[in-house]
Amino acid sequence: MKKILRINLAKKEFSLSALPELYVNLGGRGLTSRIVAEEVPPGCDALGDDNKLVFAAGILAGTAVPNSGRLSIGAKSPLTGTIKESNAGGSAAQKMARLGIQAIVLEGRAEAPLVIKIDKEGVTFSSAADLTLLGNMACLAHCRQNYGDTVAVISIGPAGEMLLKASAISVSSPDFLPRMAGRGGLAAVMGAKKVKMLVIDDSEGAPIAIKEQALFKASLKSFTEGLLAHPLTGGLKLFGTPILVGMINEMGALPTKNFSQGQFAGAEKISGESLAEMVKSRPNGETAHRCMHGCVISCSNVVTDSQGNTVVSGLEYETLALIGANCMIDDLDVIARMNAACNDIGVDTMDIGGAIAVAMEAGLIPWGDGAQAFALVEAIGKGTENGKILGHGCQYAAEKFGVKRVPTVKGQCLSGYDPRVLKGTGVTYATSTMGADHTCGNALPSPANPSYNPSAATGQGPVSQFLQRYFAAIDSLGLCLFAALPPLDMPDLQKHLIECVSAVLDETLDDQYLLRLGAMILEEERKFNALSGFGPEHDRLPEFFSKEALSPGGTTFDVPGEELDMVHR
Ligand code: SF4
Repeated sequence: MKKILRINLAKKEFSLSALPELYVNLGGRGLTSRIVAEEVPPGCDALGDDNKLVFAAGILAGTAVPNSGRLSIGAKSPLTGTIKESNAGGSAAQKMARLGIQAIVLEGRAEAPLVIKIDKEGVTFSSAADLTLLGNMACLAHCRQNYGDTVAVISIGPAGEMLLKASAISVSSPDFLPRMAGRGGLAAVMGAKKVKMLVIDDSEGAPIAIKEQALFKASLKSFTEGLLAHPLTGGLKLFGTPILVGMINEMGALPTKNFSQGQFAGAEKISGESLAEMVKSRPNGETAHRCMHGCVISCSNVVTDSQGNTVVSGLEYETLALIGANCMIDDLDVIARMNAACNDIGVDTMDIGGAIAVAMEAGLIPWGDGAQAFALVEAIGKGTENGKILGHGCQYAAEKFGVKRVPTVKGQCLSGYDPRVLKGTGVTYATSTMGADHTCGNALPSPANPSYNPSAATGQGPVSQFLQRYFAAIDSLGLCLFAALPPLDMPDLQKHLIECVSAVLDETLDDQYLLRLGAMILEEERKFNALSGFGPEHDRLPEFFSKEALSPGGTTFDVPGEELDMVHR
């Protein structure tokens, strides 16, 4: 029986009980959003005692289904004011599942900073006073030394403690590297609750019991074989998500110079191919790295310096787009160091890339000046005046620096796809329940769907609606996005995936299960947002995307408002 662990921070008490009926058979985003919608007052202060911070393992966590160990973290967001779920790889969800814990709910606020250890015996609290303002890398080293190297660590850096709205939560990988739940400022919620770290020890935990073993094994085999055979898997193994730099630049959709251009002259220098070459040329550099046990795709990398010291893992497309092209920085080493600093301080590279770009537009530092941009990231960690402005994200920085072109929706910076070319993704940015977020439904062209035109002005609403439902469900399974893309091209793979879920839940599920689950999650999230004051008028992109033509293609975002409004009808 799956359990919910509630931790009362003020009293330093906990309760571990069976999941209530309302939460049974949910996981990941479906569960974090259900708990937030049921238990958090929509009008509350996101950094106040009434907000709750929920960690949920996906439905498939702890099973042999590949790539199914993502951890969902949910709360009311201090960045967007909406309901929020942000997820990351790493080991935590798989360890929670082995302890039989589907969700951990942090309630109230501790009197003084805490480290919370969770294991088979329950919960122990210790003081985090000596860890104040420590970076995530030092937190990981501290845990390794004090708890051994088989635990999972969920931690915040100084940005979360300083309650910065673009702060991100770190989740440790099996090799003790930070994986970031970047979006929505959820580390500030953890900081407001005065929790520095959760340490999860699954010693003596048990594997997930599955009744329908025969069905599960057969479906698992077919699903895994299908993933391995899909061409996307091979490409990701070789180059990871940075392979997108060349493709998106070629399309004229690579955010450049604060979303004022769609192609970057330095794109080749920061491409997936250039990064892979650099990584392989250095001692201890790794491509095809895994962020969790059981991943069969291995899209991650370990970037090292010329001496073989780890700089960062993994350097991904979104960071190359927002910190690289969008700030016109074309030096991979500088971007890698900025990425590492963001992870250590605990901030989202996308919102920080957006914030630095608006600082450049305001003339604070020159475009493309990597050294000064790096100094600005360091300033966030030090909590200087400008550092705090940037640490609150792109929208806040634009307001403070007097910049009018602000690439945000509901307070959150757009990801690495300009919506004037990729219009379906633009619809997702505008209408997502979480602010601009490509992971909610990124409508990229695919060889498997040659008739889809990502730049057409019409027909994007239904595409975004489908993808938003599908990925809300995928986030509930705990499945990595890259294991969820092949089933979109191959209906048989989707069938085998649903069969695996059927076996795990011991319930017969039809082929519409994922879309039904996703639609239900979105409806609950929309309801919470409506009670928080959000209406259809907030489901719009900033005006400059429909007024300023993007070079070189000359396109604007011209999807009619009715298409945006139909997404959640
Ligand atoms: S494909 Fe990449 S993001 Fe997904 S589980 Fe594997 S390493 Fe992590």
